[in-house]
Amino acid sequence: MASDAMDKIASLCKRRGFVFQSSEVYGGINACWDYGPAGVELKRNVKELWWQELTQLRDDIEGLDSAILMHPRVWHASGHVEGFTDPMVDCRVCKARFRADQLEDAVCPKTKKPVLPECAPNLTEPRAFNLMFKTFMGPVEEDSSVVYLRPETAQGIYVNFQNVLSPSRQKIPFGIAQIGKAFRNEISPGNFIFRSREFEQMEMQFFVPPGDALTWFEYWRDQRMAWYEGIGISPTHLRFHEHGPAELAHYAKQAVDIEYEFPFGWKELEGIHNRTDFDLRRHMEHSGKDLSYFDQEANQHYVPYIIETSAGADRTVLTVLVEAYAEEPERVVLRFHPKVAPVKAGIFPLVKRDGMPDRAAAIAADLRKHFRVFYDEKGAVGRRYRRQDELGTPYCITVDSQTLADDTVTVRERDSMAQARVPSEGLLAYFRERLG
Ligand code: ATP
Repeated sequence: MASDAMDKIASLCKRRGFVFQSSEVYGGINACWDYGPAGVELKRNVKELWWQELTQLRDDIEGLDSAILMHPRVWHASGHVEGFTDPMVDCRVCKARFRADQLEDAVCPKTKKPVLPECAPNLTEPRAFNLMFKTFMGPVEEDSSVVYLRPETAQGIYVNFQNVLSPSRQKIPFGIAQIGKAFRNEISPGNFIFRSREFEQMEMQFFVPPGDALTWFEYWRDQRMAWYEGIGISPTHLRFHEHGPAELAHYAKQAVDIEYEFPFGWKELEGIHNRTDFDLRRHMEHSGKDLSYFDQEANQHYVPYIIETSAGADRTVLTVLVEAYAEEPERVVLRFHPKVAPVKAGIFPLVKRDGMPDRAAAIAADLRKHFRVFYDEKGAVGRRYRRQDELGTPYCITVDSQTLADDTVTVRERDSMAQARVPSEGLLAYFRERLG
C-alpha cells in the first residue's frame, strides 16, 4: 500500500464521520481520538463480535466490567509502578522525545527525516519513563491519595477471580472477558489510532490448571487468529510473532503476538500470553487473600495459570479500515465485511415524486428494526451510491418507477456494483442470507 495510505484513510475517516481528533476546536490534544457517527457503529460492531465470540457463544467464559480506578496497591502488586516503563531519549537540539527501542521508525518532527542515523549524536542516554497516568482521589492532592488510570483492563479481572468464580458456578478451566478503556502516557504515540494515550482493550483471561497451560495457550492462539479472519481480514495480512526469551515480559512464560501488515509495517494487533500464576500469586502476597483454587475432580489445591488474550479495539478498527480501503478509478470504497459495516443498507427513492419517498421510507422503517440502515433522498443517485461506498455500506436499495408497478426494488452490491431486482417483501430474507 502506498506510503500516503494512512493520510488518505485518516482524511476519509474525518470526511465520513468515523474518527476525529479529540478537542479539535482547541487545536486538538495529541493521541486522543473521538469516534463519530460511522466510527462509533464500526467500533461497536467490532466489540460486539468479540463479545459474542468470547461470551455468548461459549459456556466457559463470563463477562465483567470493572472500574477504571483501582486501589493503588493493585499496581504495586502487578509490577506496573516499578516496571511499566519505556526507555525514553531526548533530542538535545529539537527537544523531541522518542522511545529508545523504536528509534529505527522514529521521524524528527522538525526535519521530517528519520532520526537515525543523523540525530544519533544529539540524543541523550535512555531514561525509564513510567507510562501510567496519575491522578488524585479526594480533594487533597497528596501522595497518599494518588490513584492511577488503569493501563490495562487485565488487573480488574485478576482481582475479581474469586468474585466471578462463585456466583457463576464455573470450574477451571474457565475465562473472564472484559472490554474497557485503558490509558498509557505513550512517549511516541502515532500512526493515527494505532497508538494513542486513551484506548480500549478487549481482554480475556483464561484460568487453567498449571499442567494444561501450554495446550490452552496454543488453543487460544489459533482461536484468536481465526477471529480476525472471520471479521474479514485476509490471512495474507496476518501473521504470528513468537516472542524469544529476550522479548518475554517478566510475567510471561510463552508469548505470541498476532500481527497485521499495516501500511507502516507489520505491527502487533493482539498479544497472547501464558502468564503462569504470576498475577494471582502477586495479588495473594500483596492483599493477604487466598486466590487459590480447589480442583474437586483432581482433588488438588493450586493457583491457576492464566492464558491471556489481549486485543486493542481501536487497533482492530484501524485494521478493518486499512483492510477495507480501496481506491478505484471512479471511486474510493471501504470493502468492510458486512458484519462490521457501520450501515448495512442505504435506501433511496430514485426521485422525490410519485410516492417513491414514501415507499422507500416504509422499507427503511421495516428493515431498521433488524439492522442499521440509512435513508437518503437528496442528490443524484450515483452520488448517493458513492457516499455509501465511502462508508462501506454493503448494499443500496433503490425504489424506482418499476417498484410502483411490481413492488420490486433495485439492490446494488457495493464491491461488484452489480444490480439485482428483488421483491420488496423478500428483502429481509435476502439480507439475512448475505449480511452474516
Ligand atoms: P506495544 O508494544 O505496541 O506498545 P504492548 O505489547 O505494550 O503494545 P499490550 O500491553 O500487550 O501491548 O496490550 C495489548 C493490546 O492493547 C495491544 O496488542 C494493542 O492492541 C492494545 N494497545 C496497547 N497499547 C495501545 C495504545 N497505546 N494504543 C492503542 N492500542 C493499544
